[in-house]
Amino acid sequence: MREIAVLDEQTIDKIAAGEVIERPASIVKELVENAIDAGANAVTVEIKDGGISLIRITDNGSGIEAKQVPVAFWRHATSKIRKADDLLDVTSLGFRGEALSSIAAVCQVELITKTADSLTGVRYLIEGGKEKSLEEIGAPDGTTFLVRNIFYNTPARKKFLKTAQTEAGYISDMVERIALSHPEVSFKFIANNQTKLHTSGNHQLKDIIYHIYGRDIAANLIEISAGTDSVRINGFIGKPVISRGNRNYENYFVNGRYIRSNIIAKAIEDAYHTFMMKHKYPFTVLNFTIDGKLLDVNVHPAKLELRFAENEEMYRIVYEAVRNALTHREMIVQVGIGK
Ligand code: ADP
Ligand code: MG
Repeated sequence: MREIAVLDEQTIDKIAAGEVIERPASIVKELVENAIDAGANAVTVEIKDGGISLIRITDNGSGIEAKQVPVAFWRHATSKIRKADDLLDVTSLGFRGEALSSIAAVCQVELITKTADSLTGVRYLIEGGKEKSLEEIGAPDGTTFLVRNIFYNTPARKKFLKTAQTEAGYISDMVERIALSHPEVSFKFIANNQTKLHTSGNHQLKDIIYHIYGRDIAANLIEISAGTDSVRINGFIGKPVISRGNRNYENYFVNGRYIRSNIIAKAIEDAYHTFMMKHKYPFTVLNFTIDGKLLDVNVHPAKLELRFAENEEMYRIVYEAVRNALTHREMIVQVGIGK
């Protein structure tokens, strides 16, 4: 047996990066969430080769102060919480302080950022966790990240990436979901120099649904605004006529964050049960606003899952909201006053 020793920082970062950064889409998720947390109302995501060779993300948010730039890349460095209790009412998408250190551990990163208060911006290069340079540079307010050559120093992980086209598809799905959960932000997505999505940031969720899913779906929606004081549900569900062959069209977001939840999915599907044929799944875009005290958001490194304090209550609220919307709609159709 070898002697027991603590791993060096760079090895720790590389290993830890695996939990947060699985593929280019994970980088896009983390960086776009950071842009939203920074108060940006316009975010551009540009990729080359499915994000494998380049991801560029530009925002018009707060920017990062020059002297804080290197600190932002330390592991567990965050401006969003100070102590564990803060997790109870965290309103930002990020809080673990792991994204930038993880991305920098397995990619070549260039950051250009400027706050409104400073006259000049900074350009910072970091590769494989190693700082390369920090210099003053003219820049607009906000932040641009250029992330090149994902997993260039972890070939075993690079092998698991799919084709550029498939990776681009994952990124596209990710940007679409974030756009659906933040109608107040204008998103632009460009892949290999072609604009694939451009939302206006005009707060109209229906416009975004139209952009992403097209006319047929946008014309067959039922609006939902329901729930209780501590669990609000807003968004749209599809009429049964636009039911789909798989679950990919069940979108739901909790406090602005895309998540997976068996409870929400089951409540939605049960509510549709008598309205839909077997093996058909509903179209939904539902934004939940839930009191932080009823949630644990910190159960998954990518924050894809969360825990509800009251599972049964949650199920009931979602089921009733969807069921009421569907039944009400059906009644209107039957008496012939709806369209
Ligand atoms: P977290 O988002 O969990 O705080 P990150 O590693 O994603 O951790 O980011 C570290 C810190 O860097 C953030 O807390 C924030 O202060 C800063 N930061 C990252 N991205 C941006 C951005 N686009 N604009 C402004 N600040 C940013
Ligand atoms: Mg973050």
